[in-house]
Amino acid sequence: MTKYVFVTGGVVSSLGKGITAASLGRLLRSRGLRVVNQKLDPYINVDPGTMNPFQHGEVFVTDDGGETDLDLGHYERFTGEALRRGSNVTAGSIYLSVIQKERRGDYLGDTVQVIPHVTNEIKARMRKLGGDDIDVVITEVGGTVGDIESLPFLEAIRQFGNDIGRANALYIHVTLVPFIASSDELKTKPTQHSVAELRSHGIHPDVIVVRSDRAIDDQVRRKISLFCDVVPKAVIAAPDAADIYEVPLLLQQGGLDAVVCERLDLVTGPIDLTKWQAMVKRAKAATESVTIGIVGKYVDLPDAYLSVVESLRHAAAALDRRLDLRWIPSEDMSGLLADAHLEGVEGIVIPGGFGSRGVEGKILAIRYARENGIPFLGLCLGLQCAVIEIARSVLKHPDANSTEFDPTTPHPVIDLMETQHDLSEMGGTMRLGRYPAKLEEGSLVRKLYGQEIVYERHRHRWEVNNRYRRDLEAAGMRLSGMSPDENLVEFIELIDHPFFVATQAHPEFQSRPDDPHPLFVGLVGAAVGLRARQGELDEIDQPTRQ
Ligand code: GLN
Repeated sequence: MTKYVFVTGGVVSSLGKGITAASLGRLLRSRGLRVVNQKLDPYINVDPGTMNPFQHGEVFVTDDGGETDLDLGHYERFTGEALRRGSNVTAGSIYLSVIQKERRGDYLGDTVQVIPHVTNEIKARMRKLGGDDIDVVITEVGGTVGDIESLPFLEAIRQFGNDIGRANALYIHVTLVPFIASSDELKTKPTQHSVAELRSHGIHPDVIVVRSDRAIDDQVRRKISLFCDVVPKAVIAAPDAADIYEVPLLLQQGGLDAVVCERLDLVTGPIDLTKWQAMVKRAKAATESVTIGIVGKYVDLPDAYLSVVESLRHAAAALDRRLDLRWIPSEDMSGLLADAHLEGVEGIVIPGGFGSRGVEGKILAIRYARENGIPFLGLCLGLQCAVIEIARSVLKHPDANSTEFDPTTPHPVIDLMETQHDLSEMGGTMRLGRYPAKLEEGSLVRKLYGQEIVYERHRHRWEVNNRYRRDLEAAGMRLSGMSPDENLVEFIELIDHPFFVATQAHPEFQSRPDDPHPLFVGLVGAAVGLRARQGELDEIDQPTRQ
């Protein structure tokens, strides 16, 4: 039978609850258990797909086209498991189905209420993730205990524990123990209050994960154990880590997986974290850096590009480099400024995006990369901008554009293709989720992936306009990956350039710290190569300079 672990958070938000849930997933998987992670989000949006990345960070896309909370990205990266849309449940999606059922008459005239109708719907979503092939479901409740919005979720997880039997459910509460400099002390009072609040909702935590900026000593542990009524070994220290991928190792040392397995009576083999440990060690050991610029619209909120950043970190670590990331606001870029902004970057990434703001800056950055032989990787909108750039500079169509940005452009090199999109409805109307692509023999992407058929996740409406394919090829662009029916351009690259690759997909969703994505490894590898080449050039230049 599937066991359930519930993760709640207290005291303050942004405590790293998601990383804790993801890390526990890693630890249980490394003990050989079959685990699936889930996130319950208290907001009313039906999914995060329509939310502004400035507010909420990146929208993470699953294989089955779910537009989900960025915590699912952490879950996938830590556990190595591809999740499905059912792993993200928002209050909006719960209310939507309850109201749809009410309209259909499914409730047979009942007064529809938060308890039991809303809570039953939440419980059904949790139950759905369990099954014969799953040992543990780890469900994280978004928000902080005490928020009005999360009440139905807390009530649902409380009831669920009774439904499946308390021996099969475990509650973890993640709290903060702040250090007060004036008294030189770590304070447990906020944790006590937060646990009291949780208990007022009928949830008695089994484990408390203590976030702090330093190690906690035995006295603090005993105090939390006494006041919060958990056994001392179930008070797990989670001090700040230099690298998020170190967190599973710290929690394992603190005994988290042991306590969870014991309490849920999960019999497993010994834990094997050898590969993970080696990955963390390698990333830490890197001293030489590589400078990569991300040119984007949402650079003030780096979480908007979370998976891209993580993918770059994975690739850099795999090549024994420390990632020196440069955020370049695309809106500030114009003409000569582009050169100033981009000077010294060894690789450029243009990530995905929507709307025309900042697009011209991205196009300038691509031109800079193309003309100066700087390694470039374009992701989704990044591919579209690269096609526009080549159409303008090489095909000499100065008005070339995407119809997303200029609906009346005489040269719509990026346009809506085949599928008729209903633009009146913004939620879930894109090409979403996992699609195959066929890579051309002899192309750079084929070499990088080492495979002919590859699967990547998508989230976009616009595509390369097939009418311009021949012209683009004549301009030196290789259409190196196509949909299997040859109808949609999936990958492009430039022949006369050290590394100029773009994809209509979002490969960043599939990079893992212990299995970095080939396109990012390719970019970072080319960036490292650029420095080496420039070094050689400097040496050759030396005598003439003197
Ligand atoms: N705005 C573009 C489109 O919808 C690109 C989307 C993206 O980069 N994810 O096609």
